[in-house]
Amino acid sequence: WDMFVLAFVERLFRPTYKKDDFVLGKKLGEGAFGVVYKVSLAKKTSSKEGDLVLKKATEYGAVEIWMNERVRRACANSCADFVYGFMESSSKKGAEYWLIWRFEGESTLADLIQSKEFPYNVESMILGEVQDLPKGLERENRIIQTILRQLLFALDGLHSTGIVHRDVKPQNIIFSEGSRTFKIIDLGAATDLRVGINYIPKEFLLDPRYAAPEQYIMSTQTPSAPSAPVAAALSPVLWQLNLPDRFDIYSTGLILLQMAFPSFRSDSGLIQFNRQLKRCDYDLVTWRKSVEPRANSDLRKGFELLDLDGGIGWELLTSMVRYKARQRTSAKAALAHPYFDKEGLLALSIMQ
Ligand code: ADP
Ligand code: MG
Repeated sequence: WDMFVLAFVERLFRPTYKKDDFVLGKKLGEGAFGVVYKVSLAKKTSSKEGDLVLKKATEYGAVEIWMNERVRRACANSCADFVYGFMESSSKKGAEYWLIWRFEGESTLADLIQSKEFPYNVESMILGEVQDLPKGLERENRIIQTILRQLLFALDGLHSTGIVHRDVKPQNIIFSEGSRTFKIIDLGAATDLRVGINYIPKEFLLDPRYAAPEQYIMSTQTPSAPSAPVAAALSPVLWQLNLPDRFDIYSTGLILLQMAFPSFRSDSGLIQFNRQLKRCDYDLVTWRKSVEPRANSDLRKGFELLDLDGGIGWELLTSMVRYKARQRTSAKAALAHPYFDKEGLLALSIMQ
């Protein structure tokens, strides 16, 4: 009842919008399932309304609204701040779903890792003004640690809520200029196993560049979607059996890899890595043995960074990128990994 009353009161005081309230700005993205725009309000209802983001989605938008509502109640800081979602049926194309978020900032992690300056370009964003510290692997490692910790923290929030994102990639990680942290966006492919929403994986939605080898989150032995109450009762069991959250962990491991190795930051570089890893039966240690002897300087630099502090970065990477889902670490366990023992960026700036 408390939850119900809270949700009701919250709903009552939250602004509701309709189509004509928005003035379309720049297009931010366009996928098979929707178009995303930066928007502003036609008449500002209150001065604190800044820029917003609008996604005009197809039929899958209904699930995405549901996921965002759930996230804002259960783990609000994990994802971009969701404002409102509604069905818009006046268009000729039939029913569309409109989703509104607060505009979190200009850059996704994809934009940031493409910069020649990475990871130093992120350091100032997280810390504000940065003293003129000596550049070097140690410092790069601290910045990468901080980004990864924020990402795992957000993921742990989602997973603890019962949500598997299924499309974790740098394009779906936004830097929130307000909180100076990275947040997850795009719950369009997400699934909530606790209530059986979007239970059957839409495999075709998955981005092959970041998808774990199992592709299907739940074992194919699992029968088709049970009814919601049955799913709710079964899901903790299914969760333990299948560890669906480990799908996101594999993708997150690939992001760590891209941050450590400049040569895998481009699409073609990542695709090449995926091919190499597959040839090594998804065994990172075998992969390392095969490429290290003839490694160029970019590749050597990545290994050197992960080998710092007795190789704890490499250890963490190999515990995330594994063929078998149940051998991968969880987001919560990863956060407790010794790789994060030092306080990351903050400690570095205080120490110096
Ligand atoms: P899709 O991938 O389905 O097109 P996303 O939800 O990933 O839709 O959004 C597309 C792009 O829009 C993102 O990559 C990002 O650049 C931008 N974007 C999405 N949500 C926000 C937000 N809350 N704040 C700022 N930019 C956003
Ligand atoms: Mg996206």
